[in-house]
Amino acid sequence: MTRYTVHRFRAAVLRMYLRMSVLIALPLSLVFMFFIPTPDKGLLPLAFALFALWLNWRMRQDSEEPLRLAGGFVMVIMGLMLYGAYISNARLLQEVWVMIFPIAFAPIVASRERFFWAVTGAVSFASVVLLRPEPLTAASAFVFVSAYLTLCFVTLMLVRHNELNIERLAHLSIIDPLTKVYNRGYLKDTLVSEINRCRRNEQTLTVIMLDIDYFKMLNDSYGHLFGDSVLEQVAGALKHAAQRAGDYVFRYGGEEFCILTSALSRDEAFQFVEKLRLGIYALDIENRGSPHRVVTASAGFWCVSDLSEITPSALLLNADNALYRAKDAGRNAVVDFDDLPVSGVEPVKQAVPA
Ligand code: GH3
Ligand code: MG
Ligand code: MG
Repeated sequence: MTRYTVHRFRAAVLRMYLRMSVLIALPLSLVFMFFIPTPDKGLLPLAFALFALWLNWRMRQDSEEPLRLAGGFVMVIMGLMLYGAYISNARLLQEVWVMIFPIAFAPIVASRERFFWAVTGAVSFASVVLLRPEPLTAASAFVFVSAYLTLCFVTLMLVRHNELNIERLAHLSIIDPLTKVYNRGYLKDTLVSEINRCRRNEQTLTVIMLDIDYFKMLNDSYGHLFGDSVLEQVAGALKHAAQRAGDYVFRYGGEEFCILTSALSRDEAFQFVEKLRLGIYALDIENRGSPHRVVTASAGFWCVSDLSEITPSALLLNADNALYRAKDAGRNAVVDFDDLPVSGVEPVKQAVPA
């Protein structure tokens, strides 16, 4: 699943500028080549268009470097246009340009760089107003300045609101609305990135599947609303116990959670899963349908050190097998997949692309 982020929004605007540059520069180079002779014979706009085309292609790969390069490229072009407007001495061009500047720049400038956006805009605006051959009257200066400020603030507000909405939606798209832990869609993405990260850093990756015991009974005895509140409390306890950088808690579905943690030995992983199980037990929520009389959970985990041939589904499947063993063993228990009898389920191994 691809999530839309502010970063992607900026990249989309930048790519639009790059495409516009190609659309303008390419025909221009042909015109200079064949119809209007120039000293460079149209090679300059051609090189410019090809560079923009290349940057556009590189940006499709979605890495940081071309984004920064494209940002710099677009800023240089806009700077050149501003310079061109100045040396052309055409007042209308200058005035139009300073008006376009805040709208064109605001969407591609990160929040921390907006100060420079504001200063550059203010300086170019002031220079256009102050360097006029005939000074503005007080009334027209007032209209001009207030129109410019309105444009700046409205643009800034629209861009900021758009960014906040994107951030909010990006957050909502990965969070389970009931328990406020990550959802299953995000688990899929995170598993791939964590496998690759742990493989690079030569760390272990532990996948834990945890399921609340006798939850159906709890729902039947106390009602679904109470069941929902138990899910929230259990998720809270899991989040409380899994707080290190690289710890993730996901709601896998129903009353089942998946937890990822890294850089633990098998023994440490077992201690960690025990901490999760005991954290839920310590909530001390009554469940008269359970022989333990309180809400408990069972968990299965797999701590993997050799991630060279591992797929996300193999990790989940094996942790799930261990969970079933914990259920078979009487529930409120933790089982390590590597402790399962060899005659039982064989570990599943499949390569995941890096
Ligand atoms: P076991 O000990 O073997 O895990 O038994 P169990 O009763 O916990 O497992 P089972 O899979 O039979 O029941 C899961 C129940 O979880 C069934 C379903 O009604 C309930 N459930 C799933 N999602 C939600 C939810 O969002 N809210 C509530 N209240 N209940 C849910
Ligand atoms: Mg259950
Ligand atoms: Mg279940």
